Amino acid sequence: MAGLLFGTGGTPRSAKPQTTISGIERISELGLGCMEVEFVQGVRMGEAGARLVAEAAAGEGVKLSAHAPYFINFNAHEPEKIRGSQERLLQTARIASLCGAQSVVFHTAFYLGDPPEKAYNTIKKYLEEVLEQLKRENIRIWIRPEVMGKHSVFGTIEEVLSLCTGLEGVAPCMDFAHWHARTGACNSYQEFVSVLQQIQERLGRAALDDMHIHVSGIAYGKKGEIRHLDLKESDLQHVELLKALRDYEVKGLLICESPNLEEDALLLQETYYDLVKAG
Ligand SMILES: [Zn+2]
Repeated sequence: MAGLLFGTGGTPRSAKPQTTISGIERISELGLGCMEVEFVQGVRMGEAGARLVAEAAAGEGVKLSAHAPYFINFNAHEPEKIRGSQERLLQTARIASLCGAQSVVFHTAFYLGDPPEKAYNTIKKYLEEVLEQLKRENIRIWIRPEVMGKHSVFGTIEEVLSLCTGLEGVAPCMDFAHWHARTGACNSYQEFVSVLQQIQERLGRAALDDMHIHVSGIAYGKKGEIRHLDLKESDLQHVELLKALRDYEVKGLLICESPNLEEDALLLQETYYDLVKAG
């Protein structure tokens, strides 16, 4: 059952103090398996701090991922904003790798009115430069563009999978809440299954054996995502989703991004374990 690990996007709310290390300890106390370290407002952790985080995570047996700063746009129209975006992603990858994280998740870009095709080519080119730099530095970590919830933001499933097939070292962050909000659909067992099939067809079975998933409740409207919600306040059919993940034997990390963090992470984990037991 350790194939799919459950955890929180950021330090659990019940961790005291609210640091990354006490977050890792709290994850372990709660019986969860993983945590995403949030660098969403900037990478403020240094190398020494990152090494302590790695020690704590190894000691507690907690797997880590990292989320890069929100202030990234690989389709920015100003060169200095592109450079800044590359630098922020690189810096996240460097520190995340010292933390022992397996993956860095990031929000790729805004379309800024560009045709999606054009945005895609721009993003691919600048992302490739980051990957080359990571290679030079011998940093091995998955770079994971996230499936996004707003229509104005780059990151349909197809766009993310194309980046993954086109670039080495890139894998998807499949955010099911975002995709539900973006499409107003994808909220049934059959639809969740077709997403998993789509990933398997494009990237192979290995992608399902090492998935990175975001789940939360979500509010949405005509333009897609409005905000994250706790599962009980939202219409997301999480049981159906978990059944699809069970039936496809998906492995990897499932990060809960509901505002109540660990409460929904535990709900998802318990529900999943029950489903596995029930076969
Ligand atoms: Zn995100």
